[in-house]
Amino acid sequence: MTSHVLPTYARVDLAFERGEGAWLVATTGERYLDFAGGVAVSALGHAHPHLIAALTEQASKVWHVSNLFRIPGGERLAARLCAESFADQVFFCNSGAEAMECAIKIARKYQAVAGHPERYRIITYEGAFHGRTLAALAAGGQKKYLDGFGPPVEGFDQVEFADIEATKRALGEATAAILIEPIMGEGGVRVVPTRVLRGLRDLCDQHGLLLLFDEVQTGIGRTGTLFAYEQTGVTPDVMAIAKALGAGFPIGACLATAEAANGMVAGTHGSTFGGNPLAMAVGNATLDIVLEPGFLARVRDNALLFKQRLAQLKDRYPTVIAEVRGEGMLIGLRAAVANAELVDALRAERLLTVAAGDNVVRLLPPLIVGEAEIAHAIAAIDRAAARIEGRLAVQAAPHGASR
Ligand SMILES: *Cc1c(COP(=O)(O)O)cnc(C)c1O
Repeated sequence: MTSHVLPTYARVDLAFERGEGAWLVATTGERYLDFAGGVAVSALGHAHPHLIAALTEQASKVWHVSNLFRIPGGERLAARLCAESFADQVFFCNSGAEAMECAIKIARKYQAVAGHPERYRIITYEGAFHGRTLAALAAGGQKKYLDGFGPPVEGFDQVEFADIEATKRALGEATAAILIEPIMGEGGVRVVPTRVLRGLRDLCDQHGLLLLFDEVQTGIGRTGTLFAYEQTGVTPDVMAIAKALGAGFPIGACLATAEAANGMVAGTHGSTFGGNPLAMAVGNATLDIVLEPGFLARVRDNALLFKQRLAQLKDRYPTVIAEVRGEGMLIGLRAAVANAELVDALRAERLLTVAAGDNVVRLLPPLIVGEAEIAHAIAAIDRAAARIEGRLAVQAAPHGASR
């Protein structure tokens, strides 16, 4: 059967009928442990009763009114996000790329209203991923995504990953801001050292630039704190979030200080769907859970346990797993074989994971997993690694030796 969906994704031939907690049930009836987490979206797993209640309650009241009117749920969600962060103001949209677009526009407008319209360029980092709109692609600077789509949007200067000296060299009269993911997600779970983030903050302060963090993947508890930057002591001026904020309902948000967002007056930005009552109800419900006392501490404890067990597997299977890295439940296994082989072997063991750059396999469990799911995942990884090790041994053996 030919599909009429534009074939822009290399999809696995697997479809799911329903989910419960950390588990997905395929149309074939097979159960999969979902450590792909919809690529860091399904932070509360599947079919969470509190989210279902919030969405269905709102669905029976009003779905959409447009931003011509006030949306109380959005005002509440914005206030809560600001109370929990550096920010004073929030713009709601529907995706990570849109949240990034807003961050980029805020940075340019900030400089323009400060009397520096010539400052519009943004420094970004090799391996970054900021989304698939034309500006977000230009910010990410990855050739494979830009090829064939005409001239990239102007105004991004890309330098080596986490390199302060290269950042200094790229600074110019036209620089408006520096943009970085505190932990690179798609790029392979590469953690930016805190001293580098601190250095970038200092550079921004010295030169009147804004520091923009892309926490689309790291935000809303993924790394064990509500935002990854909290663990670094370095505060941005503007931050994009999305993925886990709606826990599966499409929401993006751009958070900013009042000073940074100074120029964003009525008419400067907008989105038809952004912040609609359904999305806001789910966003508030997500925060209800993630901000429950003890929730994030439990995420940190479980993540530590998971990483310790993974480190043991790395020691046992050095020809399969080269490195375990990441923070909280944003975990990367750098593979010693092709990462695609490991992802496939894990899926054969009914464990879902996601490939990333730098030959990494990402483990993105729902934040609600406990010891039982972690033990299950460790057993699956153990079996998959043993099977790959066996294949490697057969390949390495001289002819006939394996018989
Ligand atoms: C996923 C992601 C984006 C893009 O989000 P979309 O919702 O796909 O537009 C941007 N930045 C980072 C760090 C991401 O992980």
